[in-house]
This record gives sequence, C-alpha cells and structure tokens, in this order.
Amino acid sequence: MQPLSSFLSDHWVTPDGPATPIHHAVTGEPVAALASSGLDRAAALEHARQVGGPALRTLTFPERASLLRDLGKYLLTRTEELYELSSTTGTTRADAWPDIEGGPGVLLTLASKGRRELPDGTILPDGDTEVLARDGSVVGAHVETSRRGVAVHLNAFNFPCWGMLEKLAPTLLAGMPAVVKPAPQTAHLAHALFRQVVNSGILPDGAVQLLCAEPGDLLEHLREQDVLTATGSAATLRTLRSHPALLRNLVPLHGEADSLNAAILAPSATPDSPEFGLFVREVVREMTTKAGQKCTAIRRILAPADQQSALEEAIVTALDDVRVGDPADPDTDMGPLVDLAHRSRVREAIAWLGEASTVLRDRSPFHEVDPERGAFLAPTLLRADDARATAVHDVEALGPVATVIPYTDLDEAVDLAALGRGSLVASIFGSDPGEAAHLALGIAAHHGRILVVDASIGDAHTGHGSPLPQLLHGGPGRAGGGEELGGLRSLRPYLQRTAVQGSPDSISRILSTWQPGASRTADKGHPFTLTFDDLEVGDAITTASRTVTLEDIEAFADLTGDHFYAHMDEEAAAASPIFGGRVAHGYLVVALAAGLFVWPDPGPVLANYGIDRLRFAKPTYPGDTLTCHLTCRRKTLRAGTGYGEVAWDSEVVNQDGDVVAAYDVLTMVANRSGVNGAE
Ligand code: NDP
Repeated sequence: MQPLSSFLSDHWVTPDGPATPIHHAVTGEPVAALASSGLDRAAALEHARQVGGPALRTLTFPERASLLRDLGKYLLTRTEELYELSSTTGTTRADAWPDIEGGPGVLLTLASKGRRELPDGTILPDGDTEVLARDGSVVGAHVETSRRGVAVHLNAFNFPCWGMLEKLAPTLLAGMPAVVKPAPQTAHLAHALFRQVVNSGILPDGAVQLLCAEPGDLLEHLREQDVLTATGSAATLRTLRSHPALLRNLVPLHGEADSLNAAILAPSATPDSPEFGLFVREVVREMTTKAGQKCTAIRRILAPADQQSALEEAIVTALDDVRVGDPADPDTDMGPLVDLAHRSRVREAIAWLGEASTVLRDRSPFHEVDPERGAFLAPTLLRADDARATAVHDVEALGPVATVIPYTDLDEAVDLAALGRGSLVASIFGSDPGEAAHLALGIAAHHGRILVVDASIGDAHTGHGSPLPQLLHGGPGRAGGGEELGGLRSLRPYLQRTAVQGSPDSISRILSTWQPGASRTADKGHPFTLTFDDLEVGDAITTASRTVTLEDIEAFADLTGDHFYAHMDEEAAAASPIFGGRVAHGYLVVALAAGLFVWPDPGPVLANYGIDRLRFAKPTYPGDTLTCHLTCRRKTLRAGTGYGEVAWDSEVVNQDGDVVAAYDVLTMVANRSGVNGAE
C-alpha cells in the first residue's frame, strides 16, 4: 500500500522508507499507510515563512475572513466522502458530524465574526489610547500584528477534521501560514480533508501545508516568530514543553491536553427532578459518543452521597440500552475505539482505575462485529472506593469509561473537582441557581468552561462535551493551559501585541485611527458630503454654535416625558450636589449636537446606526453655548456592500471650551460607486 502523501512547499510528495499501516477500526484491515522518509520539513517551514506569510499579510482581515467563508462553504458541499472514511475510524455518522461539519462551522463562524468585528486593515488595535503627557502631546496604545513565522499544529487522533480546521481558522485570519501534522491513527481522514482544501484553490500559495508523517526534525527548525500548538495527551504535552529546540529558540507553545472532566449532580437534582434525568442522559451521551474518545468527555461523575445509588442504577440501565456495533450500521449507537492498540491503552487505564474503584458495569453484546478484530469495548461504569483516591482523578481512560464519586456537601464537590488539577470543562445539573453559582464559582479557577443545566434549558443546551467557536476551549493546569476558540480571542497566539508610544499624529497613522490631539483636516468641505473613498481619517468640521435655553429643556421634557427633577425642579436641582441648578438632559445635548453637525441633503451618509462610548463630562446649564468638533476617527470598509462604516469622534464643548459630551457617532457611508454599484 502506497503511503499517504504530504503537501509540502505547495506540492504533494510521497514519502519513502518503511510504511506503517493504519487499521480499520472495525475489521482491523489496513486502510492506509504512513511513511516518514524523504520529506523536507525544514524547507516546508521556510516555504511557509517566505511565501505563505507574506501572501496572507497582504490581505486585510475582511479579505482573510472571506477566504475562510469560501473555504467553509466549499467543504460543506463535500462531506460525504469524509463520512465514509470516518466510519473506518470507528465513528458513527452522528459521532462524525461535529468533526466533519463542525470544522467548516468554525471557519464560517470566525469568518462572520472577522468580517463584522475586525478592522478593515492588517493590524488590530487593542484597547484604548493612554495619555502619557499631561498636555496630551504624548500618547500610547497597543497594537497587534501578525507574527512573522509559521504556526505548526500537532493534532490529536480523535478530531482529525475539526481539530485541523478550528486551528487553521484563527491562524489564517491572523495572517499566519500553517503546517498541520495530523495524528497517525486517523491521518487518512485528515489527508482527505486537506486534499479538499488544496483542491478548492481558495488559499494563497504557502498558506497551509500537511505533514502526514512522523514529526521527525520538524520542531528542530522552529524559531522565535513561529508558534507551536499541540493537542494531545498530558504526557505528550509534558514532553513537548521540555523539547530542547523549543527551549533553545524560545518558541511559544499552546497546549490542549487531556483532562478528567467532572459532571456534578447538585443536591437539588433529586431522583424525581427533571434535572436528574437530564444528568443521566448527558453522562450516557458523553460516555458513548465517539466511544468516549473525546478530550471533553465526562470522566468523573460527582454525586451527593445520598443520591449515588439511584444515580448509578439509572446510568447502568441507560447504558444497557446502548447498542454497540458497526458504526456504518444506522442502528448502532456506539462504535469501536480507533484501533486495537488504543483499546489496549484504555484497558490498561481501566485496570489502574480498578485498583481504586468497583466495577458497576463493563459488559455489552457487540452486534454483528468481531470484537477480536475490531477495537470494541463495552461502556464501563466504575464507583470510586475512596472519593479522593489519586487514580480516579488522574488516569484518563480515553474510551467509554467514567467513575461515580460521592460527595457530602457542596464544598467537598468543589474540592473533588479540583483534584483533576485543571480541566477543560465541567457541568453542573440542578434546579437551584444559588447552589449552581456556589459550585460554578468554586470550580471556575480549575476549569476552562462550565455548563450549568436546569430544566429550562434541558433540550436547548449544546452539551457538556461540545466546544463552541464563540466560547473558550481549553483549561488550566493538566488541561494544557491553552485557550482556543472563544471567538476572536482565538487569534491571540498568532498575533504579537506591541505597545506604541508617540505623538497623537504618529499613533493615529500607526493605528489608522484618529487620536485626540492629532491634526484635523477641515478644508475639504463638510465631511458628510465626502464618499467613503474620499474621506480620510482626520477629516473634520467644527460646527456653528447653539445656546441652550430653559425653553429648550422644557420642550424636550414635554416631548420625551423625561421630567427628572434636575431638568425641571429649580429647588431640587439647586440642592443637588452634582448639578447645583437646572441642567439640560444629556440626550438633549446629543440631539442638539446632531442638529449642528448633520448635513441635511441626501448624500453619501446613508444612516446613523449608533453611538459608542458616550460620556457626559460636565452639566450643560441654560444659557450655555454648545459647539461640536466632529472628526473622522476610523473607517471600516464592508467589502461588497457599496458602503463602509465610519466612526466619528464627536466632542461637544461649551463656551469655556470644556467638554460636556464625548462619543463616537457610527455611520454608514456610501462608496464612490454607490451602494451595490449604483451611481
Ligand atoms: P498524542 O498525545 O498521542 O498525540 C497527539 C499529537 O502529538 C499526534 O499528532 C502525535 O503525533 C504528536 N506528538 C506526540 N509526541 C510528539 C513529539 N514528541 N513531537 C512531536 N509530535 C508529537 O494524543 P492522541 O492523538 O492519542 O490524542 C488523544 C489525546 O488528546 C487524549 O489524551 C485527549 O484527551 C487529548 N485531546 C485533547 C483535546 C483538547 O482540545 N484539549 C482535543 C482532543 C484530544 P505522532 O504520534 O506522530 O508523534
């Protein structure tokens, strides 16, 4: 059998040297093979740095987001081939769905967030500007830019598709190229997906490469600007953390490891409550989905001691209904483990756990399959003999295996959860929000994600074991200390944050965002008459002035119904420690400012869609005269729409030059060619 090829330096390369077979999880027959010689890993890394990185960095965030969207859509039309291959790895169709369709789902989610939330450029400002000199002449800010190296992704066997794409999405969006190394057991599935990625022709040259082989000397060639991400067992992460080349070359490592995730049945989830049934369903689902080979699966079932036996009985009964057999058979609920070697490891782990626990259930009929040739294993439920025994909090059996652990009160449940020394996820099932809050806050420091379920979300929640692109995935301590997903937080490993200090003009130019104190251009006419293309950051207008009268305030109060005493009651307002007399409504100030700065005729400004960062800095009294300084602060092109978003710095000052209100006015401004290309 010819070994799987690798995609290196934009070519498919078939390795030489001895080949190792990948086995069918059900039949044990070889389905593919891997070999490792003759692959130039150093050249691949250099190709990424020299070709892929520069190509990606010339694209703006919205352009990169469009690539992700196109790729996600493309892959979703080609899933059938992957489903067929996936059953050779032991997964049922339902098991495979999060891997095969969840992966493109991450691409689409990040694409959409990238297009909506990232600036139209290649740099990402981070946070507000700091004024560093009392007179505002020196300011500082933070900016994030693409790292200039290559990201290497070492992936685990259990999510060959999702695992690849959930890492590629933020890497590419951040403007870094990547080399992906799939795990050997499911490399044929990763290979098939990657072939689709290449065939799509959507990504620039050098943006992504695939090493379907042993890592070899790959890590030896990593450097300071590169990034290594590794998903795998805690033992693998330990080895990688002390890898000499990583230490020598100061390569950042972001780890996603295994964890002994807990599900906590809260005392309020008594056997007659809906939460009890929901808990049993979730435990059984987590134990048997993908035959329990999920990093997020429930391994420890924490139950109030007086509910423990009812819970054990309910779980055993539910597990008896799980049909174990060929994953290609639609009646099958649970397929085999990935291969016989992995089954041996899981059996070994069960034996370790068995030294500290009692077996409650470990037998199942295997339907129409040969359990000697396929890696079948019965769902196995254990009960800890000692709630604090090290093994039950330390040994990951990456299969359909979980241990029931009793606790006496909420604080003990918190302590027991912490014995996992850091987990990806925990879930809490109960009807009492106070109890759930106590548990959640008690265990939060040890967890990356916490799911709280009461009956009101019994059918709507997305599950204990499902990482979501919008929410963080990862966990402290043993879970690897990494953070993935979490929306645009996922870009962090691939961006370098830099503090920049200088004059407001310099910082405005670096951030492409006008900073208070920077030059303003007021000689191009009213900026609302300029199209998105003609408008530049810093274009500004100082409006005419308007004096606020008591009649204005009373008319505004009558119009809106806002008769707050500070506007309407002379005596009460005079007694106020803040106002000392009647003042204008803050919203009246904002409305009057709009009256000063808007351009009344139809023009490029299509709409005002909101206000950001509104602050009323000082009261406005009857008789005060207001003037507005309006400055184009930031432009964000919405590609393909015919318009862009423009944020205007609006500063309303009184006759003494004191700022009374400051905010960003958000508008949509048409391109020169007009919306949808209409002149
Ligand atoms: P492994 O730790 O065995 O391997 C993970 C990856 O690391 C493989 O691609 C492997 O490739 C590579 N690898 C291992 N050692 C080295 C090394 N010294 N240098 C370079 N690469 C190396 O994990 P599995 O594939 O068996 O996956 C299962 C484990 O992953 C479980 O413990 C599970 O909990 C965890 N996991 C964690 C997830 C998370 O998000 N936190 C998600 C999915 C799984 P090779 O074998 O070719 O060396």
